[in-house]
Amino acid sequence: MTPLGFVGAFFASLVIGVMASLLGILPGLLAPLVAALAGGLVGSVADSFYGATIQRKGFCVVCGKPVENLTHCGGEPTRRTGGFPFVENNIVNLLGSVTGALASVISILLLMGH
Ligand SMILES: [Zn+2]
Repeated sequence: MTPLGFVGAFFASLVIGVMASLLGILPGLLAPLVAALAGGLVGSVADSFYGATIQRKGFCVVCGKPVENLTHCGGEPTRRTGGFPFVENNIVNLLGSVTGALASVISILLLMGH
């Protein structure tokens, strides 16, 4: 993730934490802020990590561009050069979201002393 991406994730998480506090989803200000920041930051770092490690990478056999998609240039199948065959971008997004959600839950449990 780029430094700008990290700053973006930080402020987006901050906004979500403040909204969660104002809406009373979690009591007080500290718990929603910690939960949102933990989930947002861990989730976006995890997304970048999965994207760089296990996500399918390939190139188009027609135009030669590096691509993440299974097909390119009007449906021509791309050739895989790395990652797992079945881990396309939506899978990476799902894993990143689940990892972020777990970080939120764990941070709240730690905050509440359980
Ligand atoms: Zn192409």
